[in-house]
Amino acid sequence: MSSEPAARSGFEELLSTAERVLPGGTFGNTAADVVIREGRGSRVWDEGGREYIDYLIGSGPMLVGHSHPRVLDAVRAQLELGTTFFANNRPGIELAAAIAQAVPCADKVRFVSTGSEADAVAMRVARAYTGREKVLKFEGGYHGYSDYGLMSLAPKRTGNSPHPIPDSAGIPRVVQDTMLVAQFNDVDGVAALVREHGDDIACVFMEPMQRLIPPRPGFLAAVRELTEAHDILLVFDEVVTGFRLGYGGAQAHYGVTPDLCTLGKAIGGGFPLAAVAGREEVMAVFDAERAGAGRFVPLVGTLSGNPMAAAAGNATLAVLREPGCYERLFAVGRRLVEGIGEALARHRVEAQVVGEPALFDVVFASGEIRDYRDTLRADAGRLGTLNGLLRERGVLKSENKNYLSTSLTDVDVEETLAAWDGALGTLGR
Ligand code: PMP
Repeated sequence: MSSEPAARSGFEELLSTAERVLPGGTFGNTAADVVIREGRGSRVWDEGGREYIDYLIGSGPMLVGHSHPRVLDAVRAQLELGTTFFANNRPGIELAAAIAQAVPCADKVRFVSTGSEADAVAMRVARAYTGREKVLKFEGGYHGYSDYGLMSLAPKRTGNSPHPIPDSAGIPRVVQDTMLVAQFNDVDGVAALVREHGDDIACVFMEPMQRLIPPRPGFLAAVRELTEAHDILLVFDEVVTGFRLGYGGAQAHYGVTPDLCTLGKAIGGGFPLAAVAGREEVMAVFDAERAGAGRFVPLVGTLSGNPMAAAAGNATLAVLREPGCYERLFAVGRRLVEGIGEALARHRVEAQVVGEPALFDVVFASGEIRDYRDTLRADAGRLGTLNGLLRERGVLKSENKNYLSTSLTDVDVEETLAAWDGALGTLGR
């Protein structure tokens, strides 16, 4: 995995150009010194010539691996036909139909381009449909970069829940008054907020698996019951979990159906595409004829339903529908989770694996992790060091997630576990 001197000097130049023209030298996503040139299957290569087994997978979209032949064929075919039309098109209609068939809450689908857009729009839909203003979210939950999405995403000061804290400069103060914040997995806390503010709450907006924290048994069902009893919409942000925890997403996996959900990442097959999907009568707010007085939500996007992205999405979903696809993905995930757990024990590192087989990471803390506040006990510095040690050993992951793709092979699993063993050995206790 050594890099050629010529490649290295080209790489250094690229880094210094990035430093000159990008704030902080980055697009804002991953560290500035990770510059990816190419991806194929389960692997990516950087501009310095280094090869990695990829657990970043574009932060989730490349669920079937990079440059999957079926996805490339579909995109090439569409490329010849035209790349955007601002009109209904076959790939987009077929993708909407596939989503409606797969996702339990999805009677109807409306496309946008990013998860952030989908989340911001879904909050507006809930307000329009219910005529109420407040959104109840969970501390530590991520719902894109809108003014609302960045409320209490990662507060360092946690004393004043249920009042949200803006996690970005530049958010108008009034936004705080429109949101309430609860703790994930805390049914009593949600119930208390619903009792106090129920008539003002448009929706409970949540990741059904918050970041990496799975819902405790009964939690989602209890939230479903509470929301239904108070005519509050339940919205699942399935930008990450959609088509990842299973073909029907988290709602099928955990067996709780929301009124609305947002989807992104996997459904665009590596292209910018996301969606709001939900129950027929709620989604009617997008239909001027059927919305009803004062409920219409106009939503126009130049690239919404883009045929290239939809073609990639359709091909991705077709791969995911192949028999045994998820069984294999989860089996690989379980092997990795188990192997990493064994390596943690072997090197006596005080940490645990949190998540689901398709999406997990190590948290440097002991004791149950049930909400955002528990994650504050974790040693983020050690995780950062570990990520660096893994990169040195040819494993690329996101800052606090391992996203699995269906393209991982047995060799990848073996090499990955060897890298973790070496990295944890070096990291030490
Ligand atoms: N919701 C969740 C749960 C996410 O993890 C993300 C992105 N990581 C988003 C929304 C926003 O999606 P995007 O980055 O496409 O705007």
